[in-house]
Amino acid sequence: MSRRVQWPEMGTVAAVQSPQREMSYRAKEVCTAVYTEADAVFSTWRTDSELARVNGYAGTNDVIHLSPSLDRLLRSAFALCRESGGAFNPLLGPVMEAWGFNGADPVTTEPSAATLQAALARAEWRDVTFPVPGGIRLPRAGLKLDLGGIAKGSCVDAAYAALEKAAFRNVLIDLGGNLRALEGSAFGRDGWKTAVRDPFGKVSFAGSFLLRGGEAAASSGNYERFVVIKGVRYAHIMDGRTGRPVRGMAATTVVAPTAEEADGLSTVLFVLGVKDGMALLANHPGCRALWIPDTPDEPTIILSDGWTDFHAHPRFRIKNR
Ligand code: AMP
Ligand code: MG
Repeated sequence: MSRRVQWPEMGTVAAVQSPQREMSYRAKEVCTAVYTEADAVFSTWRTDSELARVNGYAGTNDVIHLSPSLDRLLRSAFALCRESGGAFNPLLGPVMEAWGFNGADPVTTEPSAATLQAALARAEWRDVTFPVPGGIRLPRAGLKLDLGGIAKGSCVDAAYAALEKAAFRNVLIDLGGNLRALEGSAFGRDGWKTAVRDPFGKVSFAGSFLLRGGEAAASSGNYERFVVIKGVRYAHIMDGRTGRPVRGMAATTVVAPTAEEADGLSTVLFVLGVKDGMALLANHPGCRALWIPDTPDEPTIILSDGWTDFHAHPRFRIKNR
């Protein structure tokens, strides 16, 4: 029986699992050091994070210098943005606020067309350039980078690297549902049994699969954070092209070679849906995905290629594409 230790971190729950309790506690120490350092760089919430400092230069023509970790993650986020035609958009800070997220005042009505248009104008990703290595230009005033769709995954990869360097073995890292397995679990098992949550909350899990050593998994869901406006639930994942919360999708899960790729993909595949999502996934070797459409009366899981070991809860119908 492996030992799970969990604690609050970055507004969510972090955990590690390993064969021994003592090892889990030591792994936790390694992870918290990594997360504390990362939070000071990527946090959307903290006014003293490096990201907040960078956002403070929006509207100037300056080349803003970036730490190596922020430079790398921003380039990776903008690569996914370009690849998805802006469906994944790291500039949604103002849009998130217009819908009452990211610490903004709660909203009781949908933002007006004018408010949304103004927020979207500040999310014009084609304006952002990387003119030199280690530098970014944010020429539009009011622009606000939000790395919430990808940062946790990159933190998990950093924790993975730190644990590997410190010669840990058989550890499962979890940061708010972003997982990565450092080797298989102990006792000769070649993977970690991983559950996919039922987004409709009817059963304890929608399905399960084996996460193998080195692999990462991430999930995005409409159940995580949402606002209710006039009885309608709006999820915290926006279509980066329209600035409106995604409708029709309940959850996505992605398995990928790194947690950053899994995190970014789970968010963008939630936005793109099955058809366009499958096309994007084809450019990501070693990745597999599943979608759960927001049809509670017909619970369905749509699987991409690459799943060999997926077990669905009997309540869910499986569709292979
Ligand atoms: P995740 O739980 O990884 O799917 O990330 C959701 C978070 O990503 C949200 O809370 C926002 O901070 C951010 N976000 C929402 N919509 C998008 C989008 N279309 N592209 C990039 N980030 C987004
Ligand atoms: Mg994500």
